[in-house]
Amino acid sequence: MRIFTASLATETNTFSPMYTDVHSFYQSFYAPPGQHPATPTLCSAPLIACREFAAMDASLQVIEGSCAWAEPGGLLNRHSYELLRDEILQQLQQAMPVQAVVLGLHGAMVAQGYDDCEGDLLSRVRAITGPGVIIGATLDPHSHLTPQRLAASDLLIAFKEFPHLDFMQRARELVQLALLAVRGEIKPVMSSFDCRMIDVLPTSHEPMKSFISKIRQLEQQGAALSISVIHGFMAGDVSDMGTRLLVITDNKPAEGAALAQALGMELFSFRGKTLPQFNDINTALDLAQQVAGTVVLADVWDNPGGGVAGDGTLILHSIIARKLTGVAVGTLWDPMAVKLCFAAGEGAVIALRFGGKSGATAGAPIDKTVTVRCLVAGAVQQFADSSVPMGDCALIEFDGIEVILNSNRCQSFDPSLFRALGIAPQQRKLLLVKSTNHFYQGFAPLAAKVIYVDAGAPYPSDPTRNKYTKLRRPLWPITPQPFD
Ligand SMILES: [Zn+2]
Repeated sequence: MRIFTASLATETNTFSPMYTDVHSFYQSFYAPPGQHPATPTLCSAPLIACREFAAMDASLQVIEGSCAWAEPGGLLNRHSYELLRDEILQQLQQAMPVQAVVLGLHGAMVAQGYDDCEGDLLSRVRAITGPGVIIGATLDPHSHLTPQRLAASDLLIAFKEFPHLDFMQRARELVQLALLAVRGEIKPVMSSFDCRMIDVLPTSHEPMKSFISKIRQLEQQGAALSISVIHGFMAGDVSDMGTRLLVITDNKPAEGAALAQALGMELFSFRGKTLPQFNDINTALDLAQQVAGTVVLADVWDNPGGGVAGDGTLILHSIIARKLTGVAVGTLWDPMAVKLCFAAGEGAVIALRFGGKSGATAGAPIDKTVTVRCLVAGAVQQFADSSVPMGDCALIEFDGIEVILNSNRCQSFDPSLFRALGIAPQQRKLLLVKSTNHFYQGFAPLAAKVIYVDAGAPYPSDPTRNKYTKLRRPLWPITPQPFD
């Protein structure tokens, strides 16, 4: 049996000024055929899963295509998308005949002229393979589930957890179901339900934690081959934006549709109740100053994982104004400042302007005389089984505050980002990270308290105020009663 695998993924915040092109992929992650490292990335895990299955089954031949990931950002340049897409399609063409294609996708990629990149890619894959070949993909739940994707593929499986720590398990499930389908042991049929809502749905907290446990139980009891919650991605101005339930059954479309609807309406009942307490900056810092141990402050809306710059300074300005010490910030994106620090060298004391350069809303740049404490070329942090490149990083210090400046935009996944620059995170009073919820599993164990901070910018976090131009159906909270 021959199976083709490749990955093309990014998450497009169509409101973001951080435009994306092919170099954004080459900088974040790019592995041509045969050159994917042994460790998976969030969206290329199906390739690693294919290798695992092939290691156990000599009759399985894996043909590896290219894998590319760009840090979430603004609209993807059309030529860049077509270049990366066609590279994979040509590889597939050469690999034919294959019995299955499994792709690692994100599901919220938008390019100039392509509102549904994944639907376009999957349709072109289907055009090459013809009917009868099993086509599947893993998706990030922060994606758009479009009719074109459903029509072109047999198996779509989203990560269940947010933080997405289960990406490798979902990839193994995808490959396993694809192999069963090729052997004719199952006939996967997808049923979806539109929940007519958009919200942020962390599964590290209730009620989503229990909801995901219930879904796992339903799968274990055989109610479906796979159940996915597509959370949706509110920063994507595309017509299919929104939350959906996706159920894959063994050729039981009516039962699948009924289950998708029942679970979808249960999820709809959680709308507006899924977020942990978010605090404004002053409330958050008041709370932090009352805690004895290490406090983790999450700047939830300046999260590069949502396609914004990650160079916002609103919270850091307040920390400076309060003269707080024992503070470590990980990270603040500023490649220009990193370059200057590398030129000055470790131990240098320099006047530096850093942060706040990419937009008008996320705070002004900071000017300080800083000591360059540590320089690391090509620093990485860990996230579950994957290594996330932070690029060249500089640790600067001023007034009892340490800031890690990074040159690859990336969200704060794990305390290893601090250790990479020589900081023992549990020895600091205050850790400021940029992440909506992916940080939680990694940082909660070392935190006396985790505080989510809503600084109000720059992510378009309020759907009722976002200027959507392509939505054509009622969606909560824009429409308070979307099912009426
Ligand atoms: Zn996601």
